[in-house]
Order: sequence, then structure tokens, then C-alpha cells
Amino acid sequence: MLAVMPAGTRALSAHEIHRRIAAGEVTARGVAEAALAEAERVQARSNAFVTLTPDAALHAADAVDEAVRAGDPLPPLAGVPYAAKDNLARGGAPTTAGARVLRDFESPYQATVIARLEAAGAVPIGKTNLDAFGMGSSTEASDFGPVLNPWNDQRVAGGSSGGSAAAVAAGVVPIALGTDTGGSVRQPASFCGVLGFKPTYGTLSRYGVVAYASSLDQVGVLARDPRDVGLAMDAMVGRDPFDATTVPVEATFAAAAEPGDLRGVRVGLIRELLGEGNDPGVNDATHRTAAALRAAGAEVHEADVPSARAGVSCYYLIACAEASSNLARYDGMLTGVRVGEEHEGQEAVMTASRSDGFNLEVRRRILMGTFALSAGHVDAWYGRASRVRRKVADELAAAFAGADLLLSPTVPSAAFALGQHDQDPLAMYLADVDTCLANLAGLPAVSVPAGRDEHGMPLGAQLLAPALQDGRLVRAAAALADGAQAG
Ligand code: GLN
Repeated sequence: MLAVMPAGTRALSAHEIHRRIAAGEVTARGVAEAALAEAERVQARSNAFVTLTPDAALHAADAVDEAVRAGDPLPPLAGVPYAAKDNLARGGAPTTAGARVLRDFESPYQATVIARLEAAGAVPIGKTNLDAFGMGSSTEASDFGPVLNPWNDQRVAGGSSGGSAAAVAAGVVPIALGTDTGGSVRQPASFCGVLGFKPTYGTLSRYGVVAYASSLDQVGVLARDPRDVGLAMDAMVGRDPFDATTVPVEATFAAAAEPGDLRGVRVGLIRELLGEGNDPGVNDATHRTAAALRAAGAEVHEADVPSARAGVSCYYLIACAEASSNLARYDGMLTGVRVGEEHEGQEAVMTASRSDGFNLEVRRRILMGTFALSAGHVDAWYGRASRVRRKVADELAAAFAGADLLLSPTVPSAAFALGQHDQDPLAMYLADVDTCLANLAGLPAVSVPAGRDEHGMPLGAQLLAPALQDGRLVRAAAALADGAQAG
């Protein structure tokens, strides 16, 4: 077993990097060069990146140093290195979504979240590895090879934002962007021992996000420090004319991460998600988090979400149905790599292109989704799943009548061994039982580090909040981080 490095100990937070650059203690170029060197070292061991972007990084860093020299006011993330999941469009380098059908795609425009983060001074180090189109929980379904967990290279980093989680955990960058359709920010965060924050649906623009399942997809932030989650969120929130589902949200996330206690906060521990379905260490970790919340002043009681365990089946029907529609565009004609031009006729070339461009996991999803939407089956599968989705959302809303936050495990296990689920994709799907609820209901959720299991692997716990109450999660994550430091 090889661990890349003791993560998070010597790596600096975004706000500390910013402070040092503003004070003239270090240059942004120096910070960027160090991050790029770290990225290469970590890449060799973990495969966290699809592409490094040294030119863009040094260009952005030099602009920050120029502003420092000129005495210009510095934006809040000036000189802070960040990484973005490779399903977020960024011009100047490929955007592959981890899929070979997009291996040659260079976006002509920037995703809004990327444009905004960089407008706030963040420095792009690279694009991180993911399961193709975000379809997976281990990054083993990436067409660019799996991401190895920085704590143990025999284990997966989680997915689908496995590269972002590994890059943050290994200390390459303090902040990375991911996307979360059914848990893809929170689950790898849990497996790698970092924070993974998925905001309320509509808080961050999906413009420039390679679509997987549009009613569930949301951009999220991975970081080691809750204040850095706040800084990144503040830079990216706000309505976007290019995404009609965005809502006006104020930039109050960093303020929510200021030190404070949790007095008066009521936390409901979701009973249905604890117990036998989880590794014992996971139940312990959730109870430890409940105790830490109590120590910070919160009041913790049990809560019921009776249909919680039905969520994951309906999630896979809805996600695959939407994916089958979203992925129809990769036909090798206007979009995606074209192969098989020697074949007769457009349909044959499309078939050849799609067969070549989509891996087994992607094909499985498209087939399931197409079936769930097919005439004669649509009501029994897609329609029923939509009704269960509504029920789960209603039950969560009812649970929030007696609680400000809900608490559960993030994942039923710690990071599993590479290849462990190769023969049994269903087992991997079922492990989204905890995370998919927030996506089904459009709610914000965060995975916070919650100690280690008996093998030394990180564990996480998940907190959920009502829609648009994202600040409560940042506040709780900050209080837990302060408590962990004090303890
Ligand atoms: N593991 C889930 C899936 O495979 C979630 C993925 C995601 O959130 N992008 O669909």
C-alpha cells in the first residue's frame, strides 16, 4: 500500500494562500509552480488529472502578481490554485467528461462556474478525472483509467468526482470543483477524507456542465477547509442568464463559515439510514459526528424518512432516463468523435461512433434509460419513479418540520478495493442510498470528515438542509472542523 502523502497537513488553505500573496510573502507564480509540481507528482501515483493546464495557470498567476505590484485591490481568490472536474467546459484545453467520445473536444466557451471562479482570481491547475459523464461511484468507469485513493493506492478514490477529491486530499489544490448528480461530490469526499458540498439545485449554474441527468445535476465544491468552501461558493453564486434554473442566491457562504457554535440548532438523525446496511465503522462515524454536533451546542434527536431506502431505485431510473436523452447528441455527426466512415450510410456511422465512444457503463445506462422511457413502460418505470421521488421529497420536508439539519452516513462503507464491484454493478449503485436523496429533492448537502475505519481509511457523515438553507451546512461544517481541531 502506498499513500501519496499525509494529506492536508502541510497544504495551505485558500484563505491562507490569499493572505500570503496579498502580504507579498509569496508570489502567485511561485504558488502556481509549486501546485503544478505537486500535481505532476500526485498524477504519477493517483491519476487524479486528465489534463494539467500550466499555461493557463501561469498566465493567471502572473496577472495576480501584476495586480499586487500595482497595488490594485485583489479579488478574494487571487492566486489560489484550483482544479475542475473535466465535465466542466474550459476553453484552452480539452473537456473530455472522462469519455473517449469527447477525447478531442475543446470547448469554445467557459462554464459559468469556471468563468466566475477565475474572475475571482483562482488559478486553473488542471482538469480532474471522472467516471465517463459522471456515471459511477469509483472513477473506474473513466476512459482515462481509474483514480487511486491518495491514502491507499489499492483502493478507489470514489466517484464520479474522484480526481477532484484526490487532488484536494493530496494537497495539490485547496479547492476543486465537482458535479453531483446522485452523490458524486460527497461520496469521493467521504472516501478521501475531505469536505464535499452540494448546494441547493439552482444555486450554481449548469451552463457549460456536460449534462448527465439535468434535473439532478448540480456543481459542488471539494475542499479541506469550510471557509474555502464558502469563498468558492461566494465567487460562483448568483443568477446566470445562460441557465434558467438558477436562482438568485446571495454571497454569504464565507460569512457562514466564521467560527461559531451550534446552540439552538436541531439535528435529526435519519433512523432508516443507520444500522445493518452499513459497515459498523460507518455507524460509529455517524454517531461520533452526532456527538460532535452536540458538543458544539446542537440538539440531536432521531428523525424518520420512511421511504429513504426507496430513493436509490428511483434515482437510477430517473438518472438513466435523463441520460439516455442527454447522450443522444453524441452521434459522431455534429457532436463527438466520428469513427467508421468506411461504413455505408449515416446510421451505420452513427452506430459505429456510439459503440466506439461509449464504454460499458455508459451503454448500460443508456439502455436502462431508454427502456424506462419506452412506450408501454414509461408509466410503470419512469412515471412510478417520479412519484417515489415526490414522496421522498415530501418526507424530507416533513422531517425538516422538526429539524434544522438532517444527519446520516455519506456512504455505507469506506473506500473499497479497486475492481471489487467489477462483476456486480448493482452493489455499487446501491451504495448511493444516502447521497441520492438530496438530489431527488434538490436539497443542499455536505459530507464532512468523520474519522477513520480500522484500516485507517477516511469515513464521512452527511448533513442535509432545507432548500436554500445552504448556509446552515457551512456553519455546521465549520463548527465541526473547529471542534475537531480543539479536540
Ligand atoms: N454514483 C451515482 C451514479 O453513478 C452518482 C453519480 C453522480 O453524482 N454524478 O449515477
